[in-house]
Amino acid sequence: MANLKAVIIGSGFGGLSLAIRLQSMGFDTTVVEKLDGPGGRAYVRRANGFTFDMGPTVITVPHFIEELFALERGQPNLDGPDFPPSVLDERQRITQGISGGPHTSRYVQIVPIQPFYRIYFDDGTCFDYDGDPLHTREQIRAICPDDLEGYERFHAAAKAIFERGFLQLGYTHFGSLASMLAVMPDLLRLDAVRTLFSFTSRYFKSDKLRRVFSFEPLLIGGNPLAVPAIYAMIHFVEKTWGIHFAMGGTGALVQAFVRKFEELGGRIRYNSEVSRIIVTAPDGGEPSRFGRKVARGVQLTSGEVIPADVVVSNGDYANTYMRLIDPRYRLFHTDRRIRRTQYSMSLLVIYFGFKADNLNLDLRHHNIILGPRYEGLLQDIFERKVLSEDFSQYLHVPTLTDPSLAPPGHHAAYTLVPVPNKAGRGASLDWRTQGPALVDRVLRFLDERGYIPGLCERLVYKSFITPDYFEDTLNSYVGNAFGPEPRLTQTAYFRPHNRSEDIERLYLVGAGVQPGGGTPSVMMSAKMTARLIAEDFKL
Ligand SMILES: Cc1cc2nc3c(=O)[nH]c(=O)nc-3n(C[C@H](O)[C@H](O)[C@H](O)COP(=O)(O)OP(=O)(O)OC[C@H]3O[C@@H](n4cnc5c(N)ncnc54)[C@H](O)[C@@H]3O)c2cc1C
Repeated sequence: MANLKAVIIGSGFGGLSLAIRLQSMGFDTTVVEKLDGPGGRAYVRRANGFTFDMGPTVITVPHFIEELFALERGQPNLDGPDFPPSVLDERQRITQGISGGPHTSRYVQIVPIQPFYRIYFDDGTCFDYDGDPLHTREQIRAICPDDLEGYERFHAAAKAIFERGFLQLGYTHFGSLASMLAVMPDLLRLDAVRTLFSFTSRYFKSDKLRRVFSFEPLLIGGNPLAVPAIYAMIHFVEKTWGIHFAMGGTGALVQAFVRKFEELGGRIRYNSEVSRIIVTAPDGGEPSRFGRKVARGVQLTSGEVIPADVVVSNGDYANTYMRLIDPRYRLFHTDRRIRRTQYSMSLLVIYFGFKADNLNLDLRHHNIILGPRYEGLLQDIFERKVLSEDFSQYLHVPTLTDPSLAPPGHHAAYTLVPVPNKAGRGASLDWRTQGPALVDRVLRFLDERGYIPGLCERLVYKSFITPDYFEDTLNSYVGNAFGPEPRLTQTAYFRPHNRSEDIERLYLVGAGVQPGGGTPSVMMSAKMTARLIAEDFKL
């Protein structure tokens, strides 16, 4: 066992979580990362004294993080319960904020955030979603008293979905159609296969409340009009374990993962882009078209070869197969199949710093600012793939929790605007011109609507990314921001699998595979992939 080597392509949340796990399982693990630092979508941009997390900011399910920091070499703990009684017993007090845990706090400080989100409607009113049952009901009553009874029913239905879909089935790797068919009756009984927006609309008459209780999948690349209602579980995941923030930013958590991995003896190599996954027949020769194929290691763009017994890709699903593996070795993941897959939307994200003097900022740490249209805008982004005049955004102001992320007297913020990916008609959008124009409109909107009064005058730093960044820098097919879109036909068994069907000893981890996108899911995917590897190597 001591000599088994693993190589992981990519140091995103999924790659690092699996790296810690493989190292604890006894593999000698090397992570090879294209960028000059870790994190992938959670990479950190530093400029002019500001620190910007480029991607994830909402940390949920802190005990998944605690589980990783508790691992030790030779103690992979893959067999224990995924949700130990301690994390379930504490449900009642969790929304009041437990963060981290004894092992986590040795590496990074995680704090609860309240409210979870402030959701602004286009008429300027807002809803503070904070997981507090009384406050939630008060706000529903103020918006639409008739919907109070619907909320009780929604709550019960979402809870049932959470218990079955997350607590019981969350860690199931659906490797066969039979495994999927076995759970279909439950999903039908729970009404979890209709779309989330239609599910929410059954319980709420108010358009505002339909939006409040259906927007969350957008944070993991899902279209509320298309994701199955199984994603109502997100609401409950947040309600059960709260929303948290890593002091110093999500980047501090990424650095903590790197430290943990290196303490276990693992190695990360930056500026190391993989150009090819090396595949042979079992005897080391050239594989025949229909014969067995085995992953043997990777080759970097520099030409260097890194041999390995296990190869895992944390990179984009489509690009892993299409760019890193010769088509002759892929009977299942053909270019045609990959191109037919629907990919999540892309994003324009603006990172900006502004002067805070004499500024009465009435924002929260996490703000969802909805535009005038909801369904129409979602159709423009996901289906028509056109750039609309109106937009919705998620505005993140971490300096309200951690002022150290900006120079004294300043705030650091980012705002994220969902936009079409570059598939189909989206390919005709030229982001070199559309990007700066949209940035200008979004910042002026925040200023003129009074979200950040005087922003244009106060601005001292700005930079932004567009679908081009996802495509060119993060190697994401058609510039997708979250992997294959989570829709029923791309969920569970129908989502790419964590163990390759084409090539033995090749695995995938992260947002592109099961269970899906978002940091808790990719940490789950790491445990699922680790279990498959343990099974295959009879560990
Ligand atoms: C702007 C934004 C905000 C988000 N906000 C949240 C949030 O608040 N909460 C939440 O839970 N989730 C959020 N998400 C989703 C979450 O960030 C992702 O689902 C998750 O981080 C993806 O992790 P991953 O392990 O799949 O890998 P990724 O982060 O995608 O990393 C993949 C890595 O592989 C590397 N790579 C690719 N190809 C190669 C190659 N050939 N050779 C070497 N390296 C390669 C890339 O450089 C990259 O570092 C957000 C995403 C974005 C984009």
